[in-house]
Amino acid sequence: YCSKTASFHSLRPQFNLPPENIPLSVASYVLALRSSFNPDSTVLIDSATGHRFTYSDFTRRVNSLASNLHHVIGLKKGDTALVVSPNSVRVPILYVSLLSLGVIVSPANPSSTPSEISRLIGLSKPVTAFVTTATVQNIPSLSREPIVIDSPEFESLMSRPRQKLERVRVSQNDLAAVMYSSGTTGKVKAVMLTHRNFIAIVGSFPWAGGTEGAAEKVMLYTVPYFHMFGFFYCLKSMALNETLVVMERFDMRRMLEAVERFKVTHLAVAPPVVVALVKGGVTEEFDLRSLVGVTCGGAPLGKDAIEAFVDRFPRAQLAQGYGMTETTGGGFRMLSPEEALNWGSCGRLLGSCEAKIVDPETGIGLPPCYLGDSEATSATLVSDGWLMTGDLCYIDKEGYLFVLDRLKELIKYKGYQVAPAELEQLLQSHPDIVDAAVIPYPDEDAGEIPMAFVVKHYHSNIDEAGVKQFIAKQVAPYKKIRRLSFVNSIPKSASGKILRKDLIKTALQQSTLS
Ligand code: AMP
Repeated sequence: YCSKTASFHSLRPQFNLPPENIPLSVASYVLALRSSFNPDSTVLIDSATGHRFTYSDFTRRVNSLASNLHHVIGLKKGDTALVVSPNSVRVPILYVSLLSLGVIVSPANPSSTPSEISRLIGLSKPVTAFVTTATVQNIPSLSREPIVIDSPEFESLMSRPRQKLERVRVSQNDLAAVMYSSGTTGKVKAVMLTHRNFIAIVGSFPWAGGTEGAAEKVMLYTVPYFHMFGFFYCLKSMALNETLVVMERFDMRRMLEAVERFKVTHLAVAPPVVVALVKGGVTEEFDLRSLVGVTCGGAPLGKDAIEAFVDRFPRAQLAQGYGMTETTGGGFRMLSPEEALNWGSCGRLLGSCEAKIVDPETGIGLPPCYLGDSEATSATLVSDGWLMTGDLCYIDKEGYLFVLDRLKELIKYKGYQVAPAELEQLLQSHPDIVDAAVIPYPDEDAGEIPMAFVVKHYHSNIDEAGVKQFIAKQVAPYKKIRRLSFVNSIPKSASGKILRKDLIKTALQQSTLS
């Protein structure tokens, strides 16, 4: 199915959103769905300690925290709160509390440097930051002191409300989250997402609101909760009576131990974890018979990895999904064993979504979406309300999406976004560098790594290690330049655009020759 004008509707039953005029936060929506299940069911398990939080424990903490954040800390509807933390059981509790207060959640990568965090703050203007003992020193001063969530003070904020909280009226079109993405071009942008956006995505999972098959699902997400994939999956698990096993940092052995110990049924991962699962034999040491499903998304998954996975785990269904931060993670997904058989595709459109394939040359562009950046918004959202993904895709006649290539300037290192323009600017700020370009270079483990082409000053004797170190000092580790080539010039179009495809070709030729 390919059309320049017609939109593609989901073949699934349509999801009916609640009427728009009813005030409803995604937190109330999620808790209302979950409350139709057993209150003794386990919501969270801390994989490090084995501690379990039942639904009643969870809601008690959420309510106490929300009340104390409002009455003690002074947070109120419409404020923005930055959250800079690795995955922990406190994070989903914090998210649901903030969302129930109508406070806009803005999660950032905890490995960001102070200057990266300052840039994000400049866009989203948070009043406070929720941090950990490890990230607190990276936060510049805000109007309120940062709140350290792995501290006894935070524990006490979760344990007892000092004052009763009046119900906060949150309308569905209020902002729920501001998340960071580079979109289709270079610099980082703040993506505005409403409560209704999240309700539409969480609610369109097929078992939402029903008990069938939902009771025994034990999920472990190696994807970070600050990225859209982990963020909305947390909300989905809260809503759908799933148990979420929380692991702070990804480690293959610890993940497999947790699968065995807590009888994990489903994993949600980025492609490098699938690649690692089928490599190396460490899986043989664990009893992984509980595992029935692995959801993979965020970046392309190679055909070889899919085949090796199916061979190694014949009982587990490998389901792919395609989404973006800008689509609230929604988009295409494999939601049944039959759909998962369509290897190489990213599944079918969710019931709450519409898609359209447009000719990249003639396709019309897009309405306001990025906070404080109207130029980037008009480049990504076209006048008729469509979001431009920047991906080269097709949809077959059964509704399956296939992603062929990425047209936009984006590198996906282990599923994390690296914007070439950000690294190019940093490279060009070096006094010995005349010009530079950064491209995605294929890598078996990471999917892609940032590779730089650098033109240095004729009298400079800076070397590869020096350039790499110059960048590494200024960026989060996932953005490091991991491959570099010195060249005499950077190929550019007549209008001065870097010809990245030519550079990618050059890089691949160089690697086959060497
Ligand atoms: P993010 O906002 O970080 O989730 O990045 C979204 C982008 O990741 C998409 O526009 C795609 O380029 C890429 N992406 C996400 N899922 C997939 C997938 N299953 N296959 C290929 N690319 C993907």
